[in-house]
Amino acid sequence: MHRVVVVGAGFGGLSAARALIGKQVEVTVVDQRNFHTFQPLLYEVATAGLDSGDVAYPIRVIFGKADNVTFRMATVTGVDWDRREVLVADSQALPFDSLIVASGATARFFGIPGASEHSFPLYTLTDARRLRDHILRRLEDVDAHPEGAAARGALTFVVVGGGPTGVEVAGALAELLDVAVRHDGFRFNRSAGRIILVDALDRLLTPFRESAAEYAAGTLAGRGIEIRLGQSVKSVRADAVELEDGSVIPTRTVVWAGGVTVEGTVAGGIDAPTGPNGRLLVDHDLAVRDHDDVWAVGDAAAVLWGGAGPEADTVCPQVAQVAIQSGGHAARQVLARLDGRPTTPFAYKDKGIMATIGRRAAITQFRSGRVVRGTLGWLAWLALHLVYLVGFRNKIVVFINWSWRYLSWGSGPRIIVSEETAPVVDEDDGPVGP
Ligand SMILES: Cc1cc2nc3c(=O)[nH]c(=O)nc-3n(C[C@H](O)[C@H](O)[C@H](O)COP(=O)(O)OP(=O)(O)OC[C@H]3O[C@@H](n4cnc5c(N)ncnc54)[C@H](O)[C@@H]3O)c2cc1C
Repeated sequence: MHRVVVVGAGFGGLSAARALIGKQVEVTVVDQRNFHTFQPLLYEVATAGLDSGDVAYPIRVIFGKADNVTFRMATVTGVDWDRREVLVADSQALPFDSLIVASGATARFFGIPGASEHSFPLYTLTDARRLRDHILRRLEDVDAHPEGAAARGALTFVVVGGGPTGVEVAGALAELLDVAVRHDGFRFNRSAGRIILVDALDRLLTPFRESAAEYAAGTLAGRGIEIRLGQSVKSVRADAVELEDGSVIPTRTVVWAGGVTVEGTVAGGIDAPTGPNGRLLVDHDLAVRDHDDVWAVGDAAAVLWGGAGPEADTVCPQVAQVAIQSGGHAARQVLARLDGRPTTPFAYKDKGIMATIGRRAAITQFRSGRVVRGTLGWLAWLALHLVYLVGFRNKIVVFINWSWRYLSWGSGPRIIVSEETAPVVDEDDGPVGP
């Protein structure tokens, strides 16, 4: 049987492996985690809107009934091209005839001093839970030590990056602070809680139309969020962020939503040609250059838009739809080669882009450029995320959760689960984070 190894069970890897179910191939999906993560809702976990299990799904359950698909939980460390084996840490190598690389990307810190050490990226479920615990702990710290809390930045939350993730986090943080004061008995003055959204560019949401970006900025400002555009971050410390203009913002919480890179991930280390941002260079059919029967999809690859439009040779954005569509396409190319048929070029079907700013405020921009915003945009956003969320149980739980929160402004998993049980107090400087 022809052996296919799929590295990564994100949107791209899942889509590839699903397209191979029941075919005359033996598929091994390998991932360092035993679950698939629905990244678009990580910000909800980070701001205590959803629980971890609501946005993750066990990979084994997805393929449990597929006789020709097996799962291996292991960290891929490289590829032995001579032996055609995927190398994994602490485990037996996985031989392959065809390989699909769908290992995603990671947070990009641009070499900014202190950013990787002191800020909170939002790329994995672990990141999201860590950030949630940190934010909730800050609120507890302020409750226990209210003196000088605002001055030392305990109630200041800086979000770096004005793309969809940054906008979503900022909006959700504002709602979390509202709820904390209204429902959870926190006694700090809500107006002392600052959320500052920083971006080096001079507008938010660059993939969206100008009018959509203005709507987002106006909505965020209306919810009390300070927006600092055209400002690069110079450095991040445990207690402050310094901007290029020399201003220093005391803060204990910097959320890093400044972009992603493939550099430093396994895709960057498999001895295959890479382009800007470390993305694997692929041909129009998604074949990795210089290697036979190797395909790369999703965030890890510089997937070309394809089709007949003017953007045919431009590289697709790193979004879920590209990963889903390219994953399925790569699987079909594996089957085409097996059948002795020629491969076909990938053509991305752009279904539009979306971003939510919070309760009843979101933007949906269609391929035609038409923008739907406000409540309608928000409902479209909710519906689409429910459709693509993996797992029936998760869809139901998230739907109920959203409906309940919408009606009550109330519950949400505002629990601190990390080991540390009490606020840490820095004698010189007041409470600090873990
Ligand atoms: C916070 C956030 C919000 C987002 N919001 C949206 C949105 O609203 N809409 C949208 O379209 N896109 C959104 N995106 C982008 C979208 O999630 C990605 O484009 C998509 O997940 C890419 O899919 P992928 O399969 O290429 O990679 P991923 O989904 O990242 O999956 C990669 C998989 O590979 C595994 N892996 C990585 N390295 C190894 C290794 N060495 N060994 C074994 N396994 C490994 C990982 O564990 C992971 O399961 C968001 C991304 C983030 C981070």
